[in-house]
Amino acid sequence: MINVFKFGGASVKNADAVKNVGEIINLFPTQKTVVVVSAMGKTTNALEKLLDAWYTHQPDIYQYWNEIKNYHQEITTALFPDSSLKDVPGVAPILEQVEKQLDAEPSDNFDYEYDQLVSVGELLSTRIVSHYLNTRGINSVWLDAKKLIRTDSSYREAKVNWNVSEEQITKAINPCFQDNNRVVLVQGFIGATDTGQTTTLGREGSDFSAAIFAYCLDAKAVTIWKDVPGMLNADPKYFDNTVRLPKISFKEAIELSYYGATVIHPKTLKPLQNKGIPLYVKSFLTPNSEGTIIQPGTESDHEVPSFIFRMNQILISINPRDFSFIMEENLSHIFNLFHLFGVKINLMQNSALSFSVSVDDDRRKIEPLLQTLQENYAIRYNRNLELVTIRHYNTETIDRVTVNKEILVEQKSRYTARMVMRDLG
Ligand code: ASP
Ligand code: MG
Repeated sequence: MINVFKFGGASVKNADAVKNVGEIINLFPTQKTVVVVSAMGKTTNALEKLLDAWYTHQPDIYQYWNEIKNYHQEITTALFPDSSLKDVPGVAPILEQVEKQLDAEPSDNFDYEYDQLVSVGELLSTRIVSHYLNTRGINSVWLDAKKLIRTDSSYREAKVNWNVSEEQITKAINPCFQDNNRVVLVQGFIGATDTGQTTTLGREGSDFSAAIFAYCLDAKAVTIWKDVPGMLNADPKYFDNTVRLPKISFKEAIELSYYGATVIHPKTLKPLQNKGIPLYVKSFLTPNSEGTIIQPGTESDHEVPSFIFRMNQILISINPRDFSFIMEENLSHIFNLFHLFGVKINLMQNSALSFSVSVDDDRRKIEPLLQTLQENYAIRYNRNLELVTIRHYNTETIDRVTVNKEILVEQKSRYTARMVMRDLG
């Protein structure tokens, strides 16, 4: 059976990191592996800047482009002394394609132009990594994800056509493993429409690509190699003494991400859950350590409580002005307004007389929303709050996060406690 590995930007950010990818693949010498690779380091951000400069007709676009080329050149030189970037097999046409785009006038379709330009990060990185693996004697086949993952034409957020993708993926990938190859290297993040236009699957889409390949190939497992030891039970930014979650279910991982944990996106988890393909999250720095396994069984979900912090919350209370109660009619009107202003509700609570919600206090969206709500309702709000969610809580974990806090809203269900709080410290 085939394994799928995904290496993100940080795992190919310089020559040593690329070499480490080779080391990791060599830890599994007999395993047929599809290796999904992101753009190197922060290349996607750099390409977005370049796109912006080109799209707004700034004079110095070639400076941005040269920086991106130089960065890839440096990695190339470190991997293959005396080699130039454009000599890496497959790279020259990519560079030409970008320069042709930059020399032309941008079309009106920004999202389309985005996908044509920003997808280049993954194409470059996989060309360099593939060349490196081959020179190290790890025979790999480079495949073009645009010929494998078929999408619609919702540029920057393309939807996968699963049937066509499955057919293309199995037809192209299975035969590769018959020759002397045990590694197939593909780009994350990108696909193409039925007329061959490049599309992207949304930022951080490479994990999703790995799930698509695994699903279509009925893979044994997916491993996402990261610079952390696995999934942690809290964001170390807000929490001391985090611990690794050794084993959780798909369901739990989806719950955690629903509450705001920036773990693995549900879009990535869903196809794997459907086929029961386990997902490992492991450290590329200590590849032999255990990491986290996300799998179907829920038996271990209770072992470690998880904490999810959302800072900068605004708690808005909405009351009908006319002594009426909060009814379905009001709720549906209120929900529509939130949807219209693109404000996502993190927590809600209603009583006879009022409906309260905690949302991210993104002023650009919140101010116009508040104004519109005020046309129909009496509004009160509190700013600078935090929303904490504890999965598998107990008294001790609640005490731990509520020290020196005033609790404005508290909700408990069987496994989840949620509190909107003000910091008194
Ligand atoms: N390179 C893309 C990004 O940075 C896709 C990915 O890395 O997942 O968003
Ligand atoms: Mg990434």
